[in-house]
Amino acid sequence: MTAVAQALEQVRSSLLDGLRFDDPARWSDDELLAATASIEAVGRVIDAHRAACAGEVAERSRVELGGERLSARRGCRSVSELIERVTQVSGAEARRRITLGAATRGRVGLTGEPLEAEFPGVATALADGVLGADAATTIVRELDRPRRIADPVTFAAAERELVAAATGTGGGDDGSGVGDGSGGRVRRAADELRVQAQAWAAFLDQDGPEPDDDHAMLRRGVRLGRARDGLIPIRGDLMPEVAAGLTRLFDAHLSPRSSTGFVTDEEAAHFDVSGEQRTTDQQRHDVLAAIIETAARSGAHPSLGGAPPTVLVSVRASDLAAGRGAGHADGVETPISLRAVRQLMCTGGTQRVGFDDRGRIIELGSPERCFTPQQRRAITVRDGGCLIPGCSVPASWCEIHHVIPDIDGGPTHPDNGVLVCWFHHRTIETSGWGIRMQHGVPQIRPPVWLDPGGGWRDATKSPTRIADQLERRPDPAA
Ligand SMILES: [Zn+2]
Repeated sequence: MTAVAQALEQVRSSLLDGLRFDDPARWSDDELLAATASIEAVGRVIDAHRAACAGEVAERSRVELGGERLSARRGCRSVSELIERVTQVSGAEARRRITLGAATRGRVGLTGEPLEAEFPGVATALADGVLGADAATTIVRELDRPRRIADPVTFAAAERELVAAATGTGGGDDGSGVGDGSGGRVRRAADELRVQAQAWAAFLDQDGPEPDDDHAMLRRGVRLGRARDGLIPIRGDLMPEVAAGLTRLFDAHLSPRSSTGFVTDEEAAHFDVSGEQRTTDQQRHDVLAAIIETAARSGAHPSLGGAPPTVLVSVRASDLAAGRGAGHADGVETPISLRAVRQLMCTGGTQRVGFDDRGRIIELGSPERCFTPQQRRAITVRDGGCLIPGCSVPASWCEIHHVIPDIDGGPTHPDNGVLVCWFHHRTIETSGWGIRMQHGVPQIRPPVWLDPGGGWRDATKSPTRIADQLERRPDPAA
């Protein structure tokens, strides 16, 4: 064991012994809060060393070292992966430590002379154990970009101010006039500090060059997170022009409904369909679902194994028949509901794959069960858009619903396929809307709560068919 490892092992065991207190449940409120603050101070010392180690690992794994990178030599694709493997922390935590460690380690100039750290003030406060990793990371992340373009003197002032605000030491008056009674200033928590740091960043930036497109290009990204409560979080940073395009698509579908595209105005008045039950967030989600479905269908995307990049879903036939259990969509760990499975089967087609008890494939059905582009065009001309009254989703954004499910022998034929939007397709089993085909013509029946005693009526959003219907209507004057 090396001397460093030995020393750290000693620290660890004395910490373990020294921190064996009696039950915190018996402490008074004051004792509890004092202990909470003190243990944080102990943690800050450890955090500083964690960041320092991560920064050094990153330095030895820098890209220009090629195959000699420490991370590569240890078989890892990135510094982050190496830190994760050595410490068992999450990727996000590893990256945080790397950022902090890199920003606070001393550097070496081109001729070998020592240079101070990118954030010397943060480095000192960290090493002194007065600045937490949380607050330090906030300062580094918010000021990193302005640091590259701002005047060094002003940048140094900003860093000094923020460190002082975080540690409650020295620095100028922040104007709050609030003291903590010890002569120093109130220490800012990391969230408060972020607001302050952002104000500084904006201030430092104003003298710099115009918006840094290259920097934005580096930082752009979209990420799907790990499932939480059955949902997959999506996060990211869009280039402004991409965000503008997306906003336009959202707006186009979230705008107040037009009165066109309905069966008749009379019918519109008949059902009170103005009551949108979805939140704006939920509607945006459904627009995104339509964008994805439309893109997958467009044929303009790289195909996966010769097929358009639609979702691959697996489900046990017995579960599907019994109506319980769940399915799995390729690429996402979270199971999906049978309702979602049925919707995806309905739009994307199915292929039956049978296994024996040992998992060997013993049956492979024919995969053809998607509506062809020709069939889709025919259905589009007939239906004109989502068939649910009051819904304004246009035909090109709709899915095709098998009125009689494939599983019940419903054919993949225009006489058995109708246009509905993602949301109305997804809720078709629960919404109460009825859809049926009469001699190849879709008919719709509103839910009881909307139209008690209401019956079936022909449904279309096709302008030609609406005109046709009006013409054939008996003349009231006759
Ligand atoms: Zn709809």
